[in-house]
Amino acid sequence: MQLNYSVIIIGAGPGGASVAARLEQHGHAGRVLVLERYGFPRPKPCGGGLTGHVNEAMAELDLTLSVPHWPADLARVRFGSFVRTVRMARPVNIVRREEFDHSLVEQVRAKGIEVAEGEGVKAIEVTGDAVTVTTSLGRTLRCSVLVGADGAASVTRKYILANARTLPHRLFKMEMALPQSRSIDPAMLYDFTPMVHGIRGYLWVFPLPGRRVNVGVMHYPTYRKSGIELVERLRSGLAELGLSLPARGARGWPAWGYHPRAPISRPRVLTVGDAAGIDGLTGEGISVAMEHAVVAGDAVDQALRTGDMSFSGYRQAIRRAVVGRELALDRWLARLLYEKRGQGWRKWLSLVLYDPDVLDMYAARVSGSEILADQKLRLYRALLRHICSLPGRNRSLRQAMTEMYSLT
Ligand SMILES: Cc1cc2nc3c(=O)[nH]c(=O)nc-3n(C[C@H](O)[C@H](O)[C@H](O)COP(=O)(O)OP(=O)(O)OC[C@H]3O[C@@H](n4cnc5c(N)ncnc54)[C@H](O)[C@@H]3O)c2cc1C
Repeated sequence: MQLNYSVIIIGAGPGGASVAARLEQHGHAGRVLVLERYGFPRPKPCGGGLTGHVNEAMAELDLTLSVPHWPADLARVRFGSFVRTVRMARPVNIVRREEFDHSLVEQVRAKGIEVAEGEGVKAIEVTGDAVTVTTSLGRTLRCSVLVGADGAASVTRKYILANARTLPHRLFKMEMALPQSRSIDPAMLYDFTPMVHGIRGYLWVFPLPGRRVNVGVMHYPTYRKSGIELVERLRSGLAELGLSLPARGARGWPAWGYHPRAPISRPRVLTVGDAAGIDGLTGEGISVAMEHAVVAGDAVDQALRTGDMSFSGYRQAIRRAVVGRELALDRWLARLLYEKRGQGWRKWLSLVLYDPDVLDMYAARVSGSEILADQKLRLYRALLRHICSLPGRNRSLRQAMTEMYSLT
């Protein structure tokens, strides 16, 4: 049977649009189809922080930031009464995902890529010589390679991982107006205070253009937390900051953390972005999706040129790239900070808060001004300093909590 396309990409979020852009750079534009189940602009729950190495990825993919955005050059970390603000070496642009994703799709269309909106993929079948996808419009399409850029609820991920069972990270967010009485805070706030209440993650408040803020909470799956509980934590955390979360409108989403050994491809099929795994420490993944896409686009181009459709080296190629090294390091840090049951998190949070260098490293990680995975010596030095200063730092942490909550 004849092939309809060389490559079909499922999903037109940042991951899918970026793979399409990379394939256009390799000269495949006319033989690529992107299938997206929704029409653009479509809603996407997200903090909208273009963190990490997103600027480098967009430049490499020849994509531009052409939507309204807030360039935040301050990051603030809070825990109880402790607050520290760090100036980032370069600003993090905060966007509305509805606008950002739409603009990426328009850009790849302008490059000659076919994007079918409102057509979801229902089923995938891989045979020796092709992949067949069945769509929600009843079409049956055949291609040489299938790229799953279909986000956290990925059908491609399910096909690759079959019966694997792990708990997802959970993120809830909402965009809201700032009260007129309140001045605009230009910093990106990461508030770890909810960890006292069993959240393994943080609450964020990110500024947006037009006196608006993007607020949310990220929870690592050490403990199961219901959506209602997470929204209540968001509400009470914002109340401490003098912000009132509207009664309705917070939207949540699951996301799967990156694992360096988890399969992300099978013959003729590979995944990028959320379908392959987000950053375990921050729950962020826009940059991850775009960086994955560069590696994926190159792997697909090579497969089409050589005829080797095994993608057996793809997981390692991701792992060796800057994105994989950063993800592996963040996974390790996330396990230290979030996976300890009981009060074990305190000694790692006090490292983040009180070490003179770790917050700067965190800010560099958020803004992508440095590759944190290349700073291992700096990290080890911080760990050594921490071991020597642990009793004093734990006292400071307890004090920051008691000042805020009168906890013992
Ligand atoms: C509340 C929240 C806040 C976040 N904040 C941040 C942040 O501030 N910064 C950051 O970097 N990351 C953040 N993230 C993570 C970020 O949103 C994702 O990592 C990012 O969207 C991943 O891009 P993607 O292209 O892989 O997936 P998505 O953006 O989810 O795109 C996947 C696309 O595939 C489509 N699709 C799915 N299934 C099918 C199908 N069967 N057929 C056709 N199409 C399909 C979907 O409709 C969607 O358009 C946040 C996530 C959440 C939930």
